[in-house]
Amino acid sequence: MDFVLNGYQPADVLRYFEQLCAIPHGSYNEAGAADFLCAFAEEHNLAYRRDDMHNVLIRKPATEGYENEPVVMLQGHTDMVCVKRADKEHDFLRDPLSLIVEDGWLRADGTTLGGDDGIAVAMMMAILADDSLAHPELECLFTVQEEVGLGGAGGFDYSDIKAKLLYNLDSEEDGVCTVSCAGGVRADMHRPVTYETLDAMTAEIRVSGLKGGHSGAEIHMPRGNAHRIVGHMLAAVQAIAPIRIVSLAGGNMDNAIPRDCTAVIAYHADCADAVKTALDTLCAEQMSVLSRDDRAEGKICASYDSGTVRAMTVEDTRAILGILNLTPNGIVTMCEDMPELVESSCNMGILCTEEDAVKIGFLARASVEIRKEEIRTKLALCAGIFGAEISYSGEYPGWAYDRDSVATKRYVAVYERLWGQSPRVEAIHAGLECGLMKHAVPDLDPISIGPDMRDIHTPEERIELDSIRRVYETVCAMLAEK
Ligand SMILES: [Zn+2]
Repeated sequence: MDFVLNGYQPADVLRYFEQLCAIPHGSYNEAGAADFLCAFAEEHNLAYRRDDMHNVLIRKPATEGYENEPVVMLQGHTDMVCVKRADKEHDFLRDPLSLIVEDGWLRADGTTLGGDDGIAVAMMMAILADDSLAHPELECLFTVQEEVGLGGAGGFDYSDIKAKLLYNLDSEEDGVCTVSCAGGVRADMHRPVTYETLDAMTAEIRVSGLKGGHSGAEIHMPRGNAHRIVGHMLAAVQAIAPIRIVSLAGGNMDNAIPRDCTAVIAYHADCADAVKTALDTLCAEQMSVLSRDDRAEGKICASYDSGTVRAMTVEDTRAILGILNLTPNGIVTMCEDMPELVESSCNMGILCTEEDAVKIGFLARASVEIRKEEIRTKLALCAGIFGAEISYSGEYPGWAYDRDSVATKRYVAVYERLWGQSPRVEAIHAGLECGLMKHAVPDLDPISIGPDMRDIHTPEERIELDSIRRVYETVCAMLAEK
């Protein structure tokens, strides 16, 4: 193999990374990467275990003098997100990635690079292969299906894991150490409704072009939820006229803040003027309170018509508006120890009308389990009050901040010693594999770190070569600590 990365440091890490890039390894297609890892373990006489999902665990004994130090787990995921530029010919099931170095950054030609999280795979291999390093016993875990719901970390059998410290290598900024993540649970409400056919005046209320965003990482930003804005406007109109919902159509992803929502309502001709006056005012008022982000492309408008429609009863409409307005949404609590961190939140991400029901989907997140339970309770209460069925799915645990974390202290001390500056200690309000591992192995003390990456999950994904070196040297120095 001709290596594009020849001559760059750290040589072993980059060579393993380039070898991995030659093996297709999108989510659910990790068998080839697992074969590569198992062959590597055999070649280096290292004990390993591979499960049916293709998670791979490779063990390496402690070096001399480190036999009594706590076992350390290094961990990253083998799967990558497969995205390419529209004009790029590339088969992610067959073709190797082609790598390009530009101004000190590494990227792939027209596709995602899979630096997230192939660079972790390469770093662990380089550490396992290097007999000159000092370290305690190592458990290197290569998980699968991280990008599609943390599947590998959730399905792995941890019963023989001895590690006390976990260095997860799946973060995207050098000099930052993540010490807490959120767990989550999806809640789906299903409110049966009855339709009646009538001749009526109708209005279509449309909220569109809001900024939206990730329902965890961006939930604290000043961004409107299109479902909530429509819900608020309809509730205000309902206070002056008996309206009926004809249809509701909003977002369809629980983990995205909805950008668009359209509602059609029906009402009696007697109320036409009052409803129009109220709605026109509400549109203007809601526009005036949109955040700067939302105002850039956001629109809130109403249009009017009349005709024969199938509309929900006034009672069903009232119940739906109760759910749209009174369920928890956005930030629910902030963290006391890390004042910038959202501790718990809820996002009403899904809203649609079906044949005989309205479906409303939420994603609740919390770093502290009891906060997630509180949101679940509120949602269940609302469902009960407004006659909806509620079901839960996709639950995963969070990882609460531990101010006494040995792993965090070690990272901060080593980083300051090596690089002469203090790293940032942060938490994220989204899911990480660390949460699942901490849940499975309660004694584990995790941190998450990684090199500088940009635009992950896009064809512009890139990784700064020199930050790979810094992170690698930091990890090696952390392993040598006692
Ligand atoms: Zn990742």
